[in-house]
Amino acid sequence: MTKTDWQFVKYLDSIEHEYGYMLEHTGFYVCPGWMVLIQDMLREIDALHYGTGDHPEFTDIKEKFGRLRVYGNNIDDETEAIIDRYIILSGETCMTCGAPGQMREKGHWLYVACDEHARG
Ligand SMILES: [Zn+2]
Repeated sequence: MTKTDWQFVKYLDSIEHEYGYMLEHTGFYVCPGWMVLIQDMLREIDALHYGTGDHPEFTDIKEKFGRLRVYGNNIDDETEAIIDRYIILSGETCMTCGAPGQMREKGHWLYVACDEHARG
C-alpha cells in the first residue's frame, strides 16, 4: 500500500466515524487529494444538521469530469450552497496530493493536478 492509499483509508475511516449518520448508504469514489476537502465539507454540513434529526443522506460522493459530485436525499438549500462551494474548490485542488492545482485535459479525461502531478 502506498503512502497515499494509506492516507485515503485513514481519512475515510475518520469521516465515517464522525459523520456516519449522513453516510449510511454512501458510495465513495474519490481521489486521495480531495479527502481533506470532503472532510471539511462534511464538517460544515454536520454543523448545520447535527442533533436536529433532519439531515441529508448522501448516496454518492465521487469525482466526475474533474469535479467533485455529491448526490443524496434531503439536501436543503443551505447544504446545497455548501456543496457548490466545495465543487468549485475541487476544481482547484490536485486530485493526487491536495495542493493547489488546475484543471487539465488528457484525451477526453479531465483531471485536476498541481504542476508536480500533471501527466504529460
Ligand atoms: Zn499534486
